[in-house]
Amino acid sequence: MAKIVVLGAGLGGSIMAYEMKAKLRAEDQLTVVNLGASYSFVPSNPWVAVGWRSADEITVDLASVMKKKGIELKPQGAQRVHPDENRIVLNDGTDVDYDYLIIATGPDLAFDEVPGLGPEANTQSICQTDHAVQARYAFEALEKSPGPVVTGAVQGASCYGPAYEFTFILDTALRQKKKRDQVPMTFVTAEPYIGHLGLDGVGDTKGLLERAMRDRHIKWITNAKVTKVEPRKMFVDEVNDDGTVKQSHELPFAFSMMLPAFKGVPAVLGIEGLTNPRGFITIDKYQRNPTYPNVFGIGVCVAIPPVGKTPLPVGVPKTGFMIESMVTATAENIAALLKGEEPRAVATWNAVCLADFGDQGIAFVAQPQIPPRNVNWASEGKWVHIAKIGFEKFFLHKIRSGRSETFYENLFLEALGIKKLKDVHLEAAE
Ligand SMILES: Cc1cc2nc3c(=O)[nH]c(=O)nc-3n(C[C@H](O)[C@H](O)[C@H](O)COP(=O)(O)OP(=O)(O)OC[C@H]3O[C@@H](n4cnc5c(N)ncnc54)[C@H](O)[C@@H]3O)c2cc1C
Repeated sequence: MAKIVVLGAGLGGSIMAYEMKAKLRAEDQLTVVNLGASYSFVPSNPWVAVGWRSADEITVDLASVMKKKGIELKPQGAQRVHPDENRIVLNDGTDVDYDYLIIATGPDLAFDEVPGLGPEANTQSICQTDHAVQARYAFEALEKSPGPVVTGAVQGASCYGPAYEFTFILDTALRQKKKRDQVPMTFVTAEPYIGHLGLDGVGDTKGLLERAMRDRHIKWITNAKVTKVEPRKMFVDEVNDDGTVKQSHELPFAFSMMLPAFKGVPAVLGIEGLTNPRGFITIDKYQRNPTYPNVFGIGVCVAIPPVGKTPLPVGVPKTGFMIESMVTATAENIAALLKGEEPRAVATWNAVCLADFGDQGIAFVAQPQIPPRNVNWASEGKWVHIAKIGFEKFFLHKIRSGRSETFYENLFLEALGIKKLKDVHLEAAE
């Protein structure tokens, strides 16, 4: 009998639990440790922030699904992982031991790295559903009393797609309310150019996103370092290629949403051998930690080096479809270990993103992440908005039903011509 623990039940951890359960023997024990007993579909947060979705519509009660699937759910959350002892201390002081641990704790949001940043200070966030609910109140205040908007992502962020997405959704929502003419918008980003996305661009994301910004009268500042945020005013240093300051900007705003940098969660931060200096889980190509080979990492919590040098730090995004391939590889590899074999499954890690604009959108597929690529494709159109709604519906159905994959999802992905998203390939064991 083996004890397997999944730490974190977000986008990666919840499907990890379902996929792992399907591969375990009857005698094996699967436990999920999460902060809370519910799952919220993070990609829909931008819609929550403009009132197009309620938090309830994108939230699933995990307790009943997990129970039905024979998975034990511990909603106390982890205080600290002790990989030397194969043990996790939970927030209520109890502990859980494991033979195999899969860490899927997502990001800790580093608002504290920029004075005045974040929902407890002067800017809104869409990273968590409760933040998006708070942002909705700020959006309603903007509607009543229109003024300038500043959106974007700060230095060190690795999640640029949602920053663009939210900006365009906000533009659409303001146009629908007939308030857009009273709201000058500026996009502020640490990327060296619009459409870099932490991936050095995909297809013509530069051209597509710049044109969309011009079409919608959204100004931008790239190579932008946010130095501080005061109530209703952002201070930004625009830097040259060598990092020296080219121009300092003071941007007044009535509403601002900025993506922060990410780091590892406190339960794993600073564990020698397990994490890198920012607290991300270091993994080999089999998703396995080299120091603690019975510990695996999936999702935003894993360490991926940047694709190239940029004047300001720009991280690589970990998108949902990429996370799904990490999940499949990890389930295969733990199943192999349980059979006494060596892990061989390697995730494809291709980046796929559907960036919704509220009425249309831009989609891209990058495989591999680092250019030059075999697949380097970006496209735009109304179909992206429809596909994003499809992604939401299918994913929430998947979580509610406790199935790791559905017939409809396969059908939908095939219709998009991107059916190989979850592909993993096998390599000779090392
Ligand atoms: C606003 C936004 C929009 C996005 N939109 C898209 C999109 O459209 N398409 C796409 O492909 N990707 C998108 N992404 C990127 C990515 O898919 C999501 O961030 C995704 O939720 C990451 O999944 P994850 O499992 O790694 O982390 P999360 O989904 O964040 O899950 C982490 C889980 O770990 C839990 N946890 C944290 N600490 C502890 C602890 N100490 N103990 C126990 N549990 C803990 C949390 O409670 C949470 O349940 C988006 C990201 C953001 C921020």
